[in-house]
Amino acid sequence: MHIFTTISSLRQYLSSQRQQNKSIGFVPTMGALHAGHIALIGQSNAETDLTVCSIFVNPTQFNNPEDLEKYPRTPEADQQMLQEGGCNVLFMPDVTEMYPHPTSLQFNFGSLESVLEGQFRPGHFNGVGLVVSKLLHMVQPDKAFFGQKDLQQCLVIRRLIQDLSFSTTLVICPTVREADGLAMSSRNRRLTAAQRQVAPLLYQALVKAQTLLTKGGTITQAKEMIVEHLSQSTDIQIEYAEVVDIEQMQTLVTETATPPYAICLAAYLGQIRLIDNLFLT
Ligand code: AMP
Repeated sequence: MHIFTTISSLRQYLSSQRQQNKSIGFVPTMGALHAGHIALIGQSNAETDLTVCSIFVNPTQFNNPEDLEKYPRTPEADQQMLQEGGCNVLFMPDVTEMYPHPTSLQFNFGSLESVLEGQFRPGHFNGVGLVVSKLLHMVQPDKAFFGQKDLQQCLVIRRLIQDLSFSTTLVICPTVREADGLAMSSRNRRLTAAQRQVAPLLYQALVKAQTLLTKGGTITQAKEMIVEHLSQSTDIQIEYAEVVDIEQMQTLVTETATPPYAICLAAYLGQIRLIDNLFLT
């Protein structure tokens, strides 16, 4: 695996690979890698000739300074996992390489960024838009692989690629879960043993709500079911639980839900914020 820390060395290497007609797959991450990230690497390997992974904890997408400071960083283990996962190129820039001077560029993703993650994490999608645009310019991948766990992020990136005419195809990959259903996340490693034990309630609540909706239950009942299921643990504070369309992520205002739709959940376990979703197509 080739490791680059500068944009110029990455560009130079990738341009030589492109000259050999190799197609490039790209998996952007913030590190603290787990099997969910490695599944994206595997998908990229299956669909392209050369897989590039980036690890960059992007300060501009953190609305909470403490979350940024405490974000897990495990560079040695990450490199080993990527090597074993068949990644060809790792790009690990530092903050000054990515942001040599402060930028005031602003994105506006319209109604997509004023709900759910956008509503509760002001500025988050602006930071995502900024870093993903920069990375797409640097890597110029044929395909970029993102996880469904961050569904709203996938929709933001889809808009970004369309609106800025990037010649990259977005591939959305399924959420990888622990055996007990908990969606894998770098933040899971910050959970205490007690929090980790109750964390699967999030996925269980989503599955219960989905079952109810598919049987013709109302959206209000589904949301009540989520609240009730999560009330089993006083450690869990729900931030939002919504049934939304999968284009603009707007809350459905109908009584019942007809696919396609997604059930999206964000909750705190102590200081740790976790998100998950299920979608029906
Ligand atoms: P992150 O490092 O959390 O920024 O995530 C990097 C990429 O991995 C994003 O496209 C995420 O959606 C994706 N990802 C994170 N967790 C999972 C998971 N459990 N299953 C599949 N993809 C994931």
